[in-house]
Amino acid sequence: MENEKEKQDEKEMEINEDFKLDRILDNNTVHKYMFRICLIGNICVGKTSLLSRYSDNYFKQIYSATIGVDFRVITLKYKDIVAKVHVWDTAGQERFKSISINYYRSSNGFIYVYDITDMESLKGLDSWIHLTTENCNTNVINFLVGNKSDLENREVSKEEGEEFAKKNNLIFLETSAKNNDNVDKLFEYFTYKLIKYYEKNKEQYIQDETDTFGQFDNINLNEPKKKSCSC
Ligand code: GDP
Repeated sequence: MENEKEKQDEKEMEINEDFKLDRILDNNTVHKYMFRICLIGNICVGKTSLLSRYSDNYFKQIYSATIGVDFRVITLKYKDIVAKVHVWDTAGQERFKSISINYYRSSNGFIYVYDITDMESLKGLDSWIHLTTENCNTNVINFLVGNKSDLENREVSKEEGEEFAKKNNLIFLETSAKNNDNVDKLFEYFTYKLIKYYEKNKEQYIQDETDTFGQFDNINLNEPKKKSCSC
């Protein structure tokens, strides 16, 4: 009976177009879970824009490359369960791959991003998926995101995105960081899926907070993370 109710709840959440979790702005709110997710993909697909749109409701038209790794912490609540989510924005450049691998290891999931106007950016995800699955041990939920859905010069159809997602067992969404389409849904649905997963499989949840903060120490947060670049 309880199981039936859970299934029903989940179904309602899945089909509800206006999917929403409560955003908590007070950083001192006690959390039950701390998750780490990574944004992955080629440069220029919109990883940084998705994160800044969600965390600061900000969109910058002019491109500047992420240097190394940047992150934001967002706090969300589903029913009475509060989860802190560290979202890591890893640089898409080849030379930063080795830095990023450290962040993949303790990630609970990945958001693989491509640009719907650039077929190469979807094809490029094969190697990112390979790299991340080889170098992570705790991830359970992964998303595929076709970003820049506001643009008309599309090279990747929605069906091709869906097919790629199905092949790689990813949850698929198209987004526009520019128009703020599906961006809230992406981060909130991801968090909801993680909460649901770990509520069902509590014994699998091992999050070493000291490890996370150890990694923060290695990053100079005052250092500018962006440099100008044309793409
Ligand atoms: P990253 O290298 O993957 O982090 O990409 P950025 O977030 O820095 O974005 C690269 C470029 O694409 C920037 O010029 C952004 O303004 C632009 N961009 C990002 N998201 C969108 C979007 O949803 N629509 C449009 N039209 N442009 C976007």
